[in-house]
Amino acid sequence: MEIIKRENELKVTTLAFDLDGTLYNGDKAVDGAPEVLKQLKNKGYRLLYLTNNSSKNEIELKNKLVRLGYEAEEEEIFSSLTVTVDFVCREGYKNVYCLGTAGLKREIGKACNVVEYSEKESCKVEAIVLGLDTSIDYSRLAEALKMIDRYPEAKLIACNLDKNYPVGGGIRYPGCGAIVRAMEVACEREVDVVIGKPNTYMLSMVSDRFRLNPREIALIGDSYESDIRMAQNFGCSSFLLSTDLEKSRTNVLANIEELLLFF
Ligand SMILES: [Mg+2]
Repeated sequence: MEIIKRENELKVTTLAFDLDGTLYNGDKAVDGAPEVLKQLKNKGYRLLYLTNNSSKNEIELKNKLVRLGYEAEEEEIFSSLTVTVDFVCREGYKNVYCLGTAGLKREIGKACNVVEYSEKESCKVEAIVLGLDTSIDYSRLAEALKMIDRYPEAKLIACNLDKNYPVGGGIRYPGCGAIVRAMEVACEREVDVVIGKPNTYMLSMVSDRFRLNPREIALIGDSYESDIRMAQNFGCSSFLLSTDLEKSRTNVLANIEELLLFF
């Protein structure tokens, strides 16, 4: 009851949900989650969706959420891809090289010129973006390293440092962080900027777009290291979906239905 009282005092208006492992696993919605979100929306809360995914844009993520039974609009979705594009825009980079999916290149291409390795030294690359590349192979890694060596002044930007992500059935795939670490080892330097959670670029973008104070936002996620740390770094309240009470230093939900005890 103590926790409930404290949360109510925060005057939370906006609930920001992580996606992978929180609202869905692979291509399957978490049991009961669409109904819980419907109830929260009916109570008047603004629902937002925040993901470290850097391979899908807002339209693709919206389509997936809707297909799994959620109601979502594009402007309510923030991915590390969206936030990377926003970062590239704000920094004013004109020429950027990307290691990532065609989707990542297409989105970055809306903000600046995406330089291909084959273009040689026709223009000065100011930033190199490292995202999740689901068809990575040795030659792509080698190209990226050659670009880093060709433009040593370029800022190295990681979409996120997720080690892996769940695809359902207890199976995990390597995350963007696995590719970033491979490149850091290869080029013998660390990335300059990490865009995704637990850094707060994503929540800053949320706060700017909807004019929200951090105390009006509550973050719900399944990763202490990325979701909860981001919320804590930004000054939001947070709820961890976990069965491990010891590991957490935040509010813990054994399942998503327990959120209705708080909101
Ligand atoms: Mg997650």
